[in-house]
Amino acid sequence: MRTLLVEDDPLLGDGIRAGLKQAGYAVDWARDGQTAKLSLESGDYALLILDLGLPKLSGMDLLKWLRAKGSSTPVLVLTARDTVADRVAGLDAGADDYLIKPFDLDELIARLRALSRRSSGQATPLLRHGTIELDPAARQVRKDGRNVTLSAREFALLQELLLHAGRVLSREQLEERLYGWGEEVESNSVEVHVHHLRKKLGSALIRTLRGVGYVIDKS
Ligand code: CA
Repeated sequence: MRTLLVEDDPLLGDGIRAGLKQAGYAVDWARDGQTAKLSLESGDYALLILDLGLPKLSGMDLLKWLRAKGSSTPVLVLTARDTVADRVAGLDAGADDYLIKPFDLDELIARLRALSRRSSGQATPLLRHGTIELDPAARQVRKDGRNVTLSAREFALLQELLLHAGRVLSREQLEERLYGWGEEVESNSVEVHVHHLRKKLGSALIRTLRGVGYVIDKS
């Protein structure tokens, strides 16, 4: 899940990025509002974590700009100010959720899961295809009721394909959602992950459309 983190506090930003990476998110970290704006213009993000007090361009202005251009990317606002007026202003400007600093990393990740679930129209937290079941909260995959061990990237790839079942995702789209800034992408990494997923979960699960991309059909 490709996520843009916008936070100017180096310690907090580093902690959030590390925690999200460990939870399987591909994280790009922008340290000011202007860099975040440029990233949002060029990148395809599934989630945005936005601090309000930022240099160059405030989080509130960035949020208003994002919604004015019609983006529906789920936004979770981080605020240091625990006043009702600030929270109301953030929600009115188009935030989907907010957390007041300091917060618990586990709560942030749980809220992100809920946001991506809502934005993909997923009523239940489990993603299913035939006898395959992916539990984003527990980070577990089961086939025929038995746990299957996947690497973090394999899990992320399977999750992307299940979330967009019926839609073909290109290799570039998948790479973008699996890897954050500055992370080395080996040239055939997506193919390798797909190969492993097929070995573990069955060869018919993921279809290759030669020259186009990969798809898991709607079940
Ligand atoms: Ca700040």
